[in-house]
Amino acid sequence: MDNRIILILIVAIALLSGCKQQQPDNGRLQIVTTTGMIEDAVKNIVGDKADVEALMGPGVDPHLYKATQGDLQKLTGSNIIFYNGLHLEGKMGEILEKLGHQKPVLAVSAHIDPSKLRKVPEFNNNYDPHIWFDVALWSEAVKEISRFMQSYDTVNTLFYAQNEIRYQLKLDSLHTFVTHKIKEIPKSQRVLITAHDAFGYFGDAYNIEVKGLQGISTISEYGLRDVSNLVDFIINNQIKSVFVETSVSSKAINAVVEGCQQRGYNIAIGGNLYSDAMGAKGSPEGTYEGMVRANVNTIVSALK
Ligand SMILES: [Zn+2]
Repeated sequence: MDNRIILILIVAIALLSGCKQQQPDNGRLQIVTTTGMIEDAVKNIVGDKADVEALMGPGVDPHLYKATQGDLQKLTGSNIIFYNGLHLEGKMGEILEKLGHQKPVLAVSAHIDPSKLRKVPEFNNNYDPHIWFDVALWSEAVKEISRFMQSYDTVNTLFYAQNEIRYQLKLDSLHTFVTHKIKEIPKSQRVLITAHDAFGYFGDAYNIEVKGLQGISTISEYGLRDVSNLVDFIINNQIKSVFVETSVSSKAINAVVEGCQQRGYNIAIGGNLYSDAMGAKGSPEGTYEGMVRANVNTIVSALK
């Protein structure tokens, strides 16, 4: 047989078996999440009792993300959907609301005490959705996932509860790690400058000043005045480094670096931070814990 025909056949078979796998008949719950951080939290609770998949992979910006045709199939075929809420998934609200009439569609932020949330006037007076940056706040999202799973799948209530206890202990020590590590930066250098305002909870929880060029959502644009204000601030405070975010274009931060250079001040790019998406699957940064540790290590080594 002609080599090309064999190749076409192999591809066709792979595609067909791929389609079959999309709806596995293994009797396990099918859970779909929006972000990778939520996927990781759900996996820590459900263990091997469910298949969990995130729609948004590494480097994907949730503020701008629109569901693809493939996503719609996954969402429709799932039993449960977890999303962040607080308008993080700015372009998926309508789809999630529609699906909510057919199956459980849960915002992991839904039961967090509003007094613990940051209200942001520039974000239409909504709350800041980046709750995963304060590990203690993220623990509450994990609690919400566990609470739902315990009541939804009562055969495994105890299993989910035990997993939650184990994972919450890990999160507690992660919170302690971040708290101590940030203190290694001299107080005058404790300023975190990124492209968009993702790190507000991080700043509040771990005592570091936070500045972003764009607002809470990457939908908002920044202007020349924002760049020049930030350049003034950097020079006046002799800040050593600014940071790029893996899910946001580096254009904004490059504009700040260039602005500093034009004024004769050399500012370094301190590294890449995982702001709204985790790292590659299978790498340490591909888990929530690894993402937080990597961010903190990058921030501390660039600023201290
Ligand atoms: Zn964001």
